[in-house]
Amino acid sequence: MAARNVLTLCKEELVNFINSFDVVLSDCDGVLWLEKEAISGSPEVVKRLKEIGKKFFYVTNNNTKTRAQFVEKCQDLKYEAKLDEVMCTSYLAATYLKEKNFSQKVYIVGTSGIAEELEAVGIDYIGLGPDPVITDSAEMVRDFKPDPTVGAVVVGFDEQISYAKIFKAATYVQDPNVHFIGTNCDNQRPSPNSNISPGSGCMLRVIEAASNRKAVLLGKPEPYISQILISKYGLDPVRTLMIGDKGDTDILLGKRCGFKTLLVLSGVTTLKDVERWKNSDSSEERDLVPDYYINQLSDLLPMLSTF
Ligand SMILES: [Mg+2]
Repeated sequence: MAARNVLTLCKEELVNFINSFDVVLSDCDGVLWLEKEAISGSPEVVKRLKEIGKKFFYVTNNNTKTRAQFVEKCQDLKYEAKLDEVMCTSYLAATYLKEKNFSQKVYIVGTSGIAEELEAVGIDYIGLGPDPVITDSAEMVRDFKPDPTVGAVVVGFDEQISYAKIFKAATYVQDPNVHFIGTNCDNQRPSPNSNISPGSGCMLRVIEAASNRKAVLLGKPEPYISQILISKYGLDPVRTLMIGDKGDTDILLGKRCGFKTLLVLSGVTTLKDVERWKNSDSSEERDLVPDYYINQLSDLLPMLSTF
């Protein structure tokens, strides 16, 4: 029963579908908004889902903002959101270290989003801001004295990534006792046109290559987020719906965690992709096929009005 168009469900199937979940995890960009603009009708659907008693979480791989900044963005775009409803990867990185009773310093390749979430849980950090090569790189590598109090490297999106940052991060993580954390592995960020905007995954991979070590990944499609939601809120995966616009992050997360999955076609993944994955010989590709799909979130609104 894979990839069913929600609009083709009969009344009974629709009721069963809506009643089959208590919790909704929704991706943001491509589902709720496109960059800085809300997708028409999506705020009303989120509001209605909450009104009929569904618990709602905003789940994003973005690591450049804090949860508080996401709440602000949600409110600006007419979504009601509370701090506890936002799961961004800067927060996941801080939570991961906090759970491990981490008390050393973090070397950040990333932005203030990560730094402020670390600060919020009392974890110290270094590495924020530009770090250009001033003399020559060979000298810099030779003379670098690693800070012995660094016990973790967190890599997210960093517009100021440089040779200096790469070699420092790689040098730190060659110690297997130093945590090596990637917020997420998206190679591309949303772009307003066909120009490519390289994402956190590109920054992470260059450090993985330099250090010959793989990072622990926290964002979608890795199941860490589900672990947090289960331990903090008692989430029941079977009664959870994951909504997203991307097969290899949102839908795959849902598959890995045992959630029901709903793809919206207002973002990255197209129906053509879904058809290709459905008929693929590779089980990995077949895992990207959602249970349900819909053109855009707002198509759900008339269906929810009777609940
Ligand atoms: Mg998205």
